[in-house]
This record gives sequence, structure tokens and C-alpha cells, in this order.
Amino acid sequence: MYRLSHTVRCPVCGVEFRPTVGYLKGDEAEVMCPNGHIFTVSVPNGDSVLDCEIRDWERFGLLPQATQQAVLEVIQSGKVPNELQALMRRLKEIGVVVCT
Ligand SMILES: [Zn+2]
Repeated sequence: MYRLSHTVRCPVCGVEFRPTVGYLKGDEAEVMCPNGHIFTVSVPNGDSVLDCEIRDWERFGLLPQATQQAVLEVIQSGKVPNELQALMRRLKEIGVVVCT
């Protein structure tokens, strides 16, 4: 899950909140306001905040060195560049990286 680093306003009820999004479609994400309205927000490049950690160091160690470095940088900075979105998603799917 990604938590956006800025608040958005629901177009239906006008409430402002900081959304958590499950997945991204390009630079857009579907979010739900506290009142249950679903709408699409645009997510600028790298503007998502992650709270992640490496859970499976053994399998992480099997990744190419450059990939390990990139992933560690993402985790430290809390920002996922667009080109690493797919990789991070995959690592989460297989349980190497765990995000809260
Ligand atoms: Zn709403």
C-alpha cells in the first residue's frame, strides 16, 4: 500500500484526507474517501510514501547488486520512482519486501 504525501479533496463530499492507495495505473490511482466515495487522483512521479522493510534477506541477496541498491534507496527515501513501481510491487507479492 502507498500512502500519498499530500492530502486530496473528495469531489463528492468535499472532505480532505490523505489517501492510501493499493495500486497505481500509470500515474493515477483509485482512492476512497472516509465516507466511501471512490475517485481517481493523479500521483506525480515518486510522490508516494512507503513504510517498507526487507523481510526475506536470503532471497533479497539473490537479486542483482544494482537492484538491491535501488530497492534499499527506495526504502530509505520512502519514494518510489515510476521505473521501480513494478519491481517493488513484485517484491511485495513474493514477500521479500513487506510494507505497512
Ligand atoms: Zn467523499
